[in-house]
Amino acid sequence: MQILTGKEVAEKVYESLQSDCNVFVEKYGFPPTLAVILVGSDPASQSYVQGKKQACLSLGFGHRDYHLPSDTSQEALLELIHTLNEDSSVHGILVQMPLPAHLDADLVIQTIRVEKDVDGFHPQNVGNLLIGKPGFVSCTPLGVLQILDYYSISCSSKHVVILGRSNIVGKPMASLLMQKGRDATVTICHSKTEKLQQITKQADILIAAIGRPLYVTEAMVKEGCVVIDVGINRIEDASRKRGYRLVGDVDFEHVAPHCKAITPVPGGVGVMTIAMLMKNTMQAALQLAQKETQ
Ligand code: NAP
Repeated sequence: MQILTGKEVAEKVYESLQSDCNVFVEKYGFPPTLAVILVGSDPASQSYVQGKKQACLSLGFGHRDYHLPSDTSQEALLELIHTLNEDSSVHGILVQMPLPAHLDADLVIQTIRVEKDVDGFHPQNVGNLLIGKPGFVSCTPLGVLQILDYYSISCSSKHVVILGRSNIVGKPMASLLMQKGRDATVTICHSKTEKLQQITKQADILIAAIGRPLYVTEAMVKEGCVVIDVGINRIEDASRKRGYRLVGDVDFEHVAPHCKAITPVPGGVGVMTIAMLMKNTMQAALQLAQKETQ
């Protein structure tokens, strides 16, 4: 059984981005730059935003931090996005989700310029992904692909079962894997799926993204399958100083012995998401800088 270590893959991505960033700065005289907007002070969101800032700083990317109060109006938020859309020194714009309830997240996402939508959430980017055209792709499924590629795990003609149909993980994951060239046969399951175990047992590759701690048990997997665990869940653990530990959607301890390969939590898919955000920002910067100099 092989452990698919996201950390190792992310390190390679960062190495390559570091050199791309140096070349970019030398050529254009400014760094690829990411603007991150946080509305309110949700602790989890603050920590995600901090992680993105750290990644920018360590790579030498530019970073703009906009921390807005939780009662920020829709108009003020959209105005900031419009300003950043027009700012040629900003290449990627990310609005940290979830937003406070009075703000329209769909409208916010649609306001971000498609070429700067490094989260890959804009409907035009989502549509491009579905029809197999270039565009930005949601970072977590992109991270899963990167792990599969790094460890030479082909999806071609394999039955991939995805647990979860969210717009940021399950659906883009399915879209990526069903494309020509990837050639997986994809089944998506959700909370209304019946006889789940019968379906998951058929999976050559099982991708779990449901947000239910340790939900996937050994009874649900086929002997020799590949398991990708996207879930990140906190469970109480009195033995830890902070009172909890992180686990995935898969019961790693009991499932791993039956797998050909499996991602751990933490240290699996989670570390790939920010790496892919940086990769998307690099790509946005290259495309926008090339356009500007044409
Ligand atoms: P989400 O928006 O809550 O979606 C969960 C999906 O799982 C829904 O489609 C839901 O079905 C389905 N589901 C829930 N219980 C199920 C069950 N018992 N059987 C089958 N399907 C079930 O979650 P998400 O944002 O996609 O995130 C999923 C997990 O991935 C979470 O643990 C999250 O923390 C983690 N995550 C990790 C990263 C990362 O960086 N690694 C990034 C994003 C998310 P319905 O549609 O029917 O409700």
